[in-house]
Amino acid sequence: MSNVLYLVIPCYNEEEVLPETSLRLREKMEGLMKQNKINEKSRVIFVNDGSGDGTWELIKRLHEKDKLFGGINLSRNRGHQNALLAGLMTVREYADMVISMDADLQDDIDAIDEMVEKYLSGTDIVYGVRSSREKDTFFKKATAEGFYKVMNTMGANTVFNHADYRLMSKRALEGLSQYGEVNLFLRGIVPMIGYSTDVVYYKRGERFAGRSKYPVGKMLSFAVEGITSLSTKPIRIITTLGFFIFLVSIGMLIYSLARHFTGATIVGWTTLMVSTWAIGGLILLSLGVVGEYIGKIYLETKMRPRFIIEQFLNDKD
Ligand code: UDP
Ligand code: MG
Repeated sequence: MSNVLYLVIPCYNEEEVLPETSLRLREKMEGLMKQNKINEKSRVIFVNDGSGDGTWELIKRLHEKDKLFGGINLSRNRGHQNALLAGLMTVREYADMVISMDADLQDDIDAIDEMVEKYLSGTDIVYGVRSSREKDTFFKKATAEGFYKVMNTMGANTVFNHADYRLMSKRALEGLSQYGEVNLFLRGIVPMIGYSTDVVYYKRGERFAGRSKYPVGKMLSFAVEGITSLSTKPIRIITTLGFFIFLVSIGMLIYSLARHFTGATIVGWTTLMVSTWAIGGLILLSLGVVGEYIGKIYLETKMRPRFIIEQFLNDKD
């Protein structure tokens, strides 16, 4: 084993944080090289996800000055998950282990040591798990933790409080590459790969510059994507709901007939109004949920590329 470590960092409009991030990562990587834990050929690869600011220029400059840094320029913005995937799939042939993390250093980089340690003792996948969210606002904490809970009750099993800060070995990435789906939800897929796994706990810090690229709306649609790409539980819930409503309707049938034969059929306007709206709403909701899945099938059958790489800068030797 030659222990080449690659860090993959998706960046979308991160020109404010990159100078600081690259500085701290250089220090970290050099430290690990000195301790002989990782090979001199280890690299930090920034994936520019179609930023509208000077992010790519910054990455190019970093690469020119220091061969530790490399970059992948995507042809346009494809979102965090696809940018990450583009990075992982591109570097896996050069690396023995790959760690993915965010550009804003909210994920404590000191956890890298422990991740590498666990890799060296034979673990294939190491999840970074947030032990506390002191620095997140109450709102961010509540929505983010609610996200994991909803995901799990809907059958999308993910590691609680683990985002995309993780180490994967070469063979784990090999496994990941075999999942060809277009709607790839990494947090849900990675646990499916198998192999030996472990977790490392860390404190989640504050974004030290720039704004979050994940407002609530994006987070909600991320949750819907995650659930519908991992589980069909929502459809099962609809089926169960339909079954119960059918049972109720039998009761209603008996009740209505009884009212009819006792000649008291005029009252009940409210009941009619309420049931028409309630059932109508439920039908539309159910159609929408089923439609989500049909939409997924539609997108999957097209087999469109998940990302297009415009340029790859890396001094691998
Ligand atoms: N990101 C990306 N493409 C996007 C949105 C975000 O590559 O379309 C990157 C972003 O640059 C950052 C990471 O994804 O490195 C996480 O984003 P952010 O820190 O804004 O999310 P939060 O930590 O607030 O959930
Ligand atoms: Mg962040």
